[in-house]
Amino acid sequence: MTIGVLKEGSGENRVALLPEHVANLVKKEFTVLVETGAGAASHAEDHLYREAGAQIKERGDIIKAAEWFLSIDAPEDHLPEGKSLISVFAPLSNKGVVEKLAREGVTSFSLDMIPRSTRAQAVDVLSSMATVAGYKAVLVAAGELPGFFPMFMSASGTIKPSRVLILGAGVAGLQALATARKLGAVVEVFDVRSAVKEEVVSLGGKFVEVEGATDDASAGGYAVEQTDEYRQRQSELIQQHAILSDVVITTAQIPGKKAPILIRKETVDAMKPGSVIVDLAASTGGNCEITRDGERVVHGDVVIIGNSNFASTVPSDASRMLGNNYLNFIGLMIDDTGKLDPGVEDEIIQATLVTRGGEIVNERIKS
Ligand code: NAD
Repeated sequence: MTIGVLKEGSGENRVALLPEHVANLVKKEFTVLVETGAGAASHAEDHLYREAGAQIKERGDIIKAAEWFLSIDAPEDHLPEGKSLISVFAPLSNKGVVEKLAREGVTSFSLDMIPRSTRAQAVDVLSSMATVAGYKAVLVAAGELPGFFPMFMSASGTIKPSRVLILGAGVAGLQALATARKLGAVVEVFDVRSAVKEEVVSLGGKFVEVEGATDDASAGGYAVEQTDEYRQRQSELIQQHAILSDVVITTAQIPGKKAPILIRKETVDAMKPGSVIVDLAASTGGNCEITRDGERVVHGDVVIIGNSNFASTVPSDASRMLGNNYLNFIGLMIDDTGKLDPGVEDEIIQATLVTRGGEIVNERIKS
């Protein structure tokens, strides 16, 4: 069976598989074709893929020859009918991509549709990339900040530690908390899900609570939209904490919906000169009213960085984690003859299957 690894478009430094992942597939008797230069931005040169057992080919040849394609973004090329694609293309918000794949008759899987269960952890691309994003957000904020993160006591006087406020304690928020604590900051964390309080405290953060959040057990552990009254109280409390902070990192998302606005323009206006906001929800509208996706905005004396793809800025380890997720996913589909069976009865495979036989087959997307 032939698997083709496609090079990502400009602006994406990661690659779906590194040479170490290729070696694993070759050992299982897959033929692996890798597009010329696919791993270059992740520091995985073509010769390393060759040494791992891959064949280096041009894109068009891979699209013709491979039965399965692996990529991070869904390829824009026309894919021949009957081929299969494993990718991460946010099908809940990318209707055009989903319709294209259905029209082409491609069997497509989007790994961001995985259920957030214990069993699915090994293929959880959302968690692995959120881990990278949470870590990098703190480093970028520390680089922008005109002061130190840790407390310094020296003959030149005592410097107070920075105060970091993190909004959203999912995977990215908790990683940001852990990283900011390691750098010596004092960290406060806010989330609508009070279930995360224990984790926040165990990582050395202070949990900021607003009573009366709407929780929906059927949302699979995700947050849901909140009432206007709650939003008003939340906004006031966040403002009180944000204006005392040096750094605010926002990570709050609601799957398939626009991100909630948690930092209003008035709050930014009232923040300390030199403070920094890093908004990881930028691609879904941002948690800060001033955020612009992919941009660094200076508003008064506050810097707002909107970036939902920090994973691409740590391409080697992000690709390492992603490739492990892809391998684990492929492992679920290998049948007794060593081939990949997209029809396998498995809740993880079924949840991520988006199109098949010319149709959109995923119930979550259809509804
Ligand atoms: P996410 O990226 O969807 O959202 C980030 C955080 O923002 C969440 O904690 C969410 O509660 C919070 N949020 C949303 N609206 C908010 C608001 N108005 N104000 C403040 N905070 C708000 O989250 P995620 O990291 O993908 O995690 C989502 C869920 O999945 C969590 O329950 C997490 O524990 C769970 N999870 C489970 C597994 C597993 O068991 N395998 C793995 C990863 C995540």
